Amino acid sequence: NIPDYDLAATTKIFKEFTDYMETNEQMNFRFITQGSGPEVIVSSPFLKKPTTCVSLVSNDYLNFTQHPKVKQAAIDGIMKYGTGAGASPLIGGHHEYHVMLENKLSAFFGKPKGSSIVFTTGYTANSSTLLALLKPEDCAIVDMEVHASVYEGLLNTNTKRFPHNSMVHLERALAETKNTFRTRLVIIDGVYSQNGDLAKLDEIKALVKSYGAYLMVDDAHGIGVLGETGRGAMEVYDALEDVDIIAGTLSKAFGHIGGFIIASLDIINYLRYQSRQQVFSSTSTPATYGLLKAIDLIDEEPHWREKLAENVTYFRNGLLTLGVDIGTSASPIIPIKIGDPHRTATVARLLLQAGIYANCIVYPGVAKKDARIRTSLMATHTKAHLDHTLNALEDIGKKISLQKLR
Ligand code: PMP
Repeated sequence: NIPDYDLAATTKIFKEFTDYMETNEQMNFRFITQGSGPEVIVSSPFLKKPTTCVSLVSNDYLNFTQHPKVKQAAIDGIMKYGTGAGASPLIGGHHEYHVMLENKLSAFFGKPKGSSIVFTTGYTANSSTLLALLKPEDCAIVDMEVHASVYEGLLNTNTKRFPHNSMVHLERALAETKNTFRTRLVIIDGVYSQNGDLAKLDEIKALVKSYGAYLMVDDAHGIGVLGETGRGAMEVYDALEDVDIIAGTLSKAFGHIGGFIIASLDIINYLRYQSRQQVFSSTSTPATYGLLKAIDLIDEEPHWREKLAENVTYFRNGLLTLGVDIGTSASPIIPIKIGDPHRTATVARLLLQAGIYANCIVYPGVAKKDARIRTSLMATHTKAHLDHTLNALEDIGKKISLQKLR
């Protein structure tokens, strides 16, 4: 009964997979056997043996996971404090290095001491914060394409979704909910993870203010990457002072793991006691020391950000020359929008077999007819990596159309 479902194509892919499994019984899913950078060794049912590939799958945009100073700082943290935090933050797991990280994050955004709180992941920063803050008397007004972690945080509250970046619909939702709820929180991403486009923050901030609502921006993909000084989409739109709750991750540009919320001192103190993650789940490890260095490097070594921006321009232009649809991307996340899920899966497989590891994104990650190859660039990709990818796409395009069906 699923309209898009092509049984023959799916059976063929499944057969290729099971044939492979018979000869490689230990490998049940693709994985990286080595490397965390622009090149990785990939093991996959579609490859005869583990193969070196250009990686277009990582959010390690500045490749700080491999920066010698970041690695050394992480090792120093472990040598000083050990390997674990030992408990959840509220019951003894909140350490000096967490306080240092929170202070550094506040300072990074020009906010006062006490305005930050760290979580074990960006996912729980969003979900656990929203679950604690929004109740049945409140209403979340969310862009339909916000990250799954935001949706998970909305289980206790009322939700109105507006079509992606549609100001008309956002305004309608703000008007309809006026005087009905205790608090209305508009929640958007700074950079949308499947399109790589930016929220229309300049218009959104003005609308939210004019209707007396609050604004939360999850800028997991923008912070460290976008803006003159790497403060993200909010810097691009000069909106840092207009956002009531900033959410971010420590797993992308900062090259580690963790998430954070920056908000008023009252909200942060409330979250320390009321967020279930803070109460019931252990927190980030002393390797957090590496993060302290990574955050400094955003200011100390801007050339990583500049190199990434150069790569983005080069690769975007190459893709546009090939005539592919990259949608509204304006960040290092660049989709190749093909539409048909089976054709997209085949392109991903052919890319892998040409030594390029890129994700095939299909429903329910995106709408059924909006499948795409999602590429994600790093500062350490070379022109050779990008040319290799563009050449492979050109070859694949001769066999199977990369054009989106309209
Ligand atoms: N927000 C957005 C927009 C994301 O894309 C992601 C990760 N894919 C997250 C939050 C969650 O971050 P983390 O991986 O640190 O849990």
